[in-house]
Parts: sequence; structure tokens; C-alpha cells
Amino acid sequence: MHTESDLLMLSALQHLAFCERQCCLIHIEQAWAENRLTAEGRILHERVHGQESESRGDVYIVRGLKLRSLALGLSGVADVVEFHRVEAGGVTLEGKKGLWRVFPVEYKRGKPKSDRCDEVQLCGQAMCLEEMLNTKIENGALYYGAQHKRHEVVFDQTLRNETERVAQKLHELIASGKTPPAIYEKKCDNCSLSDVCMPEAGHRKSVEKYLEEVLKAT
Ligand code: SF4
Repeated sequence: MHTESDLLMLSALQHLAFCERQCCLIHIEQAWAENRLTAEGRILHERVHGQESESRGDVYIVRGLKLRSLALGLSGVADVVEFHRVEAGGVTLEGKKGLWRVFPVEYKRGKPKSDRCDEVQLCGQAMCLEEMLNTKIENGALYYGAQHKRHEVVFDQTLRNETERVAQKLHELIASGKTPPAIYEKKCDNCSLSDVCMPEAGHRKSVEKYLEEVLKAT
């Protein structure tokens, strides 16, 4: 179990699930390069967080809710948490009658990715809410701006295990203070930190090192 003093940013889960080096550049070396894609994402989040909480029929919508989990050692802010009125099995809310099922929604600028980094981040939010509200959350949603569409995410045991694994790895990485070297992959082409990271330069270096080792061995 973690303490308040060693909580890390929940959003780092997504960075780490995407790329270990990107996570370290942002959270150890404090490097952040904004490009058109990240600027659009930031504006989308600011727009969502800037809206008031509201009720729509049997759904109560809360924006910018602070999150924390001592089990995962993470804290952050949820874009949107919906509370759906239910007959049984929900949580109680101050100033509201009845029981409510918790349903987190995370807003993303683009479209669904081939990896599970967005799902891991959303699952981290759900696990924070479970700990804070003493409840079980079965599912949530990712909203992708490019598609104007929600994708439901089921918080099954595989995704929960992956989220716990990434959170643990995050604490180990930050404690080590060491940023791993760059290895060029296709995803680097869409990475906001590619200019800072220079993965192709790193790749060339590793090839040079490889040739040096081959020449030494002959
Ligand atoms: S450019 Fe590639 S290696 Fe570098 S931080 Fe981005 S994804 Fe990771």
C-alpha cells in the first residue's frame, strides 16, 4: 500500500503503456513538447473539465472529479464520471436520493489505438473510484473526438492485472530515475516527443555500436 506522499500521476499510466521512454521523458526529465495533436487533446480536456456537473434524467454527470488510489499509488482527475440511477447495487451520493452505478468516461482527441494504453488509463480511473467509493465498477467508456463516438470498455480481470502491472512498473521506473534509450518503432511517427527523443538517431547509434562490436570480434 502506498502513502499520500508517493502518489504518481494517473495519466502517466497511459504514457507508460504507450512507451517506457516517453513516460520517463515526461515524468522524470520533465520534457513535454506540444504539437497540434496534443494541443487539440488539451483543448478538448479543458472544454470537458470547464463544464458544470448536471443531471440528465436518471444520469448525474460530474466533470473534473479528483481521483486517488493508495493501492495503485496514483492520483489524478477524471474527465467525466456518470452516476446512473439503479434499484440496487449502487453507491449513495451526498444530496441525492437513491442508489447510483458509477461509469467513468475519458475523452480522447483522436481515434481508437491499436494498443491498450487508453483502456489502461481508464481502468486506473475506475480502480481509483472503486477504492474511493467502496464499490465495484464493471465498465466505462472512451470517447474519441475524431469519431464523435463512445467505445465501451469492460474492466475485466485481464485489464485490471495489466493496469496493476503498469502502475507497479511506473513506481519502479520513477524510483530508478533512469530513462531507457530510444528504440525506433512505427508509433514514434505519431509521438509528441519525437523531436526531443530522436528515436532514429538512437537507432543509428545502436547500429553503430553493433558494427563496432562486430569489428572488435573479428
Ligand atoms: S519517439 Fe518513440 S521511443 Fe521516443 S518517446 Fe516517442 S514513442 Fe518512445
